[in-house]
Amino acid sequence: NGQIEIKGLHKTYETKNKSFTALENIDLNIKENEFLTIIGPSGCGKSTLLRIVAGLDEATGGELTLDSEPIVGPGAERGMVFQGYTLFPWLTVRENIEYGPKLKGIPTLERRGISNRFLKIIRLESFAKSYPKELSGGMKQRVAIARALANQPKVLLMDEPFGALDAQTKLEMQEMLLEVWEREKTTVLFITHDIDEAIFLSQRIVVMGANPGRILKQFEVKLPEKRT
Ligand code: ADP
Ligand code: ADP
Repeated sequence: NGQIEIKGLHKTYETKNKSFTALENIDLNIKENEFLTIIGPSGCGKSTLLRIVAGLDEATGGELTLDSEPIVGPGAERGMVFQGYTLFPWLTVRENIEYGPKLKGIPTLERRGISNRFLKIIRLESFAKSYPKELSGGMKQRVAIARALANQPKVLLMDEPFGALDAQTKLEMQEMLLEVWEREKTTVLFITHDIDEAIFLSQRIVVMGANPGRILKQFEVKLPEKRT
């Protein structure tokens, strides 16, 4: 579960009698539980690709499936975290985390259990009743990740989620994300233009180039072998 297959994907934007190819012939298979990062310069189509996988944008050609089912529109099985992705300002931290489970009709007590678990993971138990405006940027981003994960998505889609954070907060968030990823067994498709971040987080890195947006190369990130 959580396997994405992308075959011959194309995206052309039509703007004022001009057409622009943002993605050309993208082939990419993402395995169940894999942590895959896409890097590449600004404008190479990373966000476009992620938005298409999220179902927020439509490809103009090619095939795209999640667990062999065509992707059409957004769905709860794909959680999203974007840079500066806003929390619901009228809801508390706990209510933000419980939002997806509530929509699914999960009963109050069970929802409480879910939000407690994620409040603990993101270490914001004492802010359960706070509103987003009372939180720092890093804290808000932690809540955004918890909110995405509380829905138990098979796939987590992250577009430069830590881009706006200071170095220390960024490192904490990266470590938290890896912890959650290992625990929750979700597939992660992550976008960054920071090669250090890509190497630190991922099992596989896909490098894209611009004009037109395409995959240039990809490689596995090997972990150093443990010495015994
Ligand atoms: P990246 O995330 O790698 O910076 P994007 O996916 O945001 O790249 O954009 C890829 C290219 O597509 C850019 O040249 C951008 O200007 C163009 N583009 C993105 N969205 C639109 C749109 N809605 N209409 C027209 N062009 C777009
Ligand atoms: P419910 O409506 O079932 O209580 P929701 O999670 O949909 O639960 O909404 C929680 C609260 O936020 C509700 O009080 C609702 O009226 C309010 N709310 C929902 N959408 C908006 C919005 N776009 N702007 C302001 N408040 C909203």
